[in-house]
Amino acid sequence: MTPLDNKMPERIARLAELAYNLWWSWHPDARALFAQLDISLWQNTHHNPVHMLKEISAERLEEAARDTLFRRNYDKVMMTYDREMQNGHTWFQQNFPELKTQVVGYFSFEFGLHNSLPIYSGGLGILAGDHAKEASDVGLPLVGVGFMYPQGYFRQRLPSHGWQEAVYEQLDLSQTPILPFLDETGREIRIGVRISDREVFARIWHVRVGRTPLYLMDTDVDDNDPWDRELSARLYSGDSEQRIRQEIMLGIGGVRTLRTLNIQPSVWHMNEGHSAFLLLECIREKVAAGESFAEALAEVRTHSLFTTHTPVAAGHDAFPFHMVEKYFNGYWEEMGLSREKFLDLGKHQEEWGTAFNMTVLALRLSGQANGVSKLHGEVSRRMWQSVWPDRDVKDVPIGYVTNGIHVPTWVPSEMYELYAKYLGPNWVEQHDDPILWERLSDIPDEELWSLHMELKRKTVSFFRERARRSWLYGHSDPTQILTGGTLLDPDALTIGFARRFPTYKRATLIFRDLERLQRLMLDRQRPVQLIFAGKAHPADDPGKVLIQTIYNLAKHSQLAGRVAFMEDYDMHMARYLVQGVDVWLNNPRRPREASGTSGQKAAVNGVPNFSVLDGWWAEGYNGANGWPIGQDKEYSGFEQQDQEDAIALYQTLEEEIVPLYYDRDRDNIPRGWVAIMRESIRSCAPHFSTRRMLKEYARLYIRAMKGEAG
Ligand SMILES: *Cc1c(COP(=O)(O)O)cnc(C)c1O
Repeated sequence: MTPLDNKMPERIARLAELAYNLWWSWHPDARALFAQLDISLWQNTHHNPVHMLKEISAERLEEAARDTLFRRNYDKVMMTYDREMQNGHTWFQQNFPELKTQVVGYFSFEFGLHNSLPIYSGGLGILAGDHAKEASDVGLPLVGVGFMYPQGYFRQRLPSHGWQEAVYEQLDLSQTPILPFLDETGREIRIGVRISDREVFARIWHVRVGRTPLYLMDTDVDDNDPWDRELSARLYSGDSEQRIRQEIMLGIGGVRTLRTLNIQPSVWHMNEGHSAFLLLECIREKVAAGESFAEALAEVRTHSLFTTHTPVAAGHDAFPFHMVEKYFNGYWEEMGLSREKFLDLGKHQEEWGTAFNMTVLALRLSGQANGVSKLHGEVSRRMWQSVWPDRDVKDVPIGYVTNGIHVPTWVPSEMYELYAKYLGPNWVEQHDDPILWERLSDIPDEELWSLHMELKRKTVSFFRERARRSWLYGHSDPTQILTGGTLLDPDALTIGFARRFPTYKRATLIFRDLERLQRLMLDRQRPVQLIFAGKAHPADDPGKVLIQTIYNLAKHSQLAGRVAFMEDYDMHMARYLVQGVDVWLNNPRRPREASGTSGQKAAVNGVPNFSVLDGWWAEGYNGANGWPIGQDKEYSGFEQQDQEDAIALYQTLEEEIVPLYYDRDRDNIPRGWVAIMRESIRSCAPHFSTRRMLKEYARLYIRAMKGEAG
């Protein structure tokens, strides 16, 4: 049942059900079906079928219900949907029939599934969203647990001075693909957690991601005090007091949510340390049932898996002891622990003193732990050796599973069809098999290149159209129209850079020698242009300075409109960028990028990477599928590193990238360039897919399910 059911004509009644299952978002036929219903409404709602079906007129629906072509497409999509949702022969069921009744509980602060559900800020969330989608595709029984943030993550505004402003908008929940979770009597379900002196309640929203359910807690309910109602209002805002309260709700409230829904995971997967309090709750439950702390811990360890996501120290939450005491006073007794023993579980020396560190807690109590790339695994073993003081770095029990991307989500329909034509109509089913991708050699250069140029023009016109609309509706002044990409040239070599703006990602590195860059950009025969996008965390002023710097350069006449900064980066824009530029730039300060995934999205669309050998690219670069920046080494200081990397960047641009791009044959095709595009797809698509990644996680899950880990 959905609130839209009553509005639907009988013949196409299940469109409402489809709108409320994000399955539609990674199936091109389903996307096309909604677009066919009303193309301008589809665009105006930013591809949000729930919103669209709410707005659309009854007449238009009736008309579609009578239209033979629409009906045929509808039947086809619904057939695929039913087949996939009921498929009993998935990879997981075929390989592990004995485990099909087990469940993985996957906890994450954020989930990036689609822009219509803005409860993500960046890579961590998108990874969680991709993980949930892929679990559905391969039939891995997983349930996601997180928060519904009624104000989502902020929307970015860039006034003409370029200093980022954060705008929080209350989401209209009736236009969001979520449904309240109701009990048998049709009432909303509530869970409660005591947070310091009072009980805080949450209602539960249900999100359907193919067959994967997501349960999102929302504390904006009448029974709560105003302050508690705000607890889950927004993603990553507020101070550490608010943060610990959120994390208590995520970890402890999350366990209680699953118990209330009678879901009993045999694996608890923590996507980052934010949810690590769940381990305490699992121990507390067992102690309450009569076990000793030691017995309870041993069991919890066996069934838990922790993924750490960053080598940046500030990315690991640590709370002062007095704060932890305030919230857990009384709780440690229920776990069978003294105050000291309890605090020891998370004890860690921070720069500012001894504190309770969520990563340390997760590492101490989880049976398995991993980083998100090979290099990040190494860095993490070094970083957390203090948790195992009597072990060598190499024996620190942190492994790695390199991140990947959900390929069907990040490949546009046009690319999807090209792959179907040359790899076979079932290419998605086998896309983690490298052999399949050898067939790419059958695609003629002409065809790959002309599709790329078509996607590039589509992206440029997407940006121009955005600029035009905001000009039309008076949302911007001339500076903003200029910086928003109106002068972009679809024929110029286009470099894309889009991601969050923490300083370690060095968004401004390419501007280090402005004159040298200017020579490249303004070359009459072989021009280069840059498209930037990304948000800085609302409390990150240095990150906002980087945005402002680029913004000011973009509006300066000396670069003549060859730099654009796109306002309000989100998944919708990301899709356009990763398919519609020529090169994907990534220049973090090595080794701070744990994995990075945006470059993987570009790679499967034939957009080669030009990146520091950090994160996934240290594994992905093979000498023929893109370009490295700098060397695979450690530097003595930031200044030296920035300087050397910048020089390497210019050199490769001047000597390799630009000449190759503009080296055209008689048909105006850059053969050498197309070879790199092809190699980028061939070498990256199978391995850096969420499918390959999930199958690796499945091995860890299975150890936990069978009680072999810990
Ligand atoms: C993929 C993606 C990211 C992650 O980008 P990185 O370059 O890996 O940091 C961030 N934001 C959005 C919207 C994305 O789609």
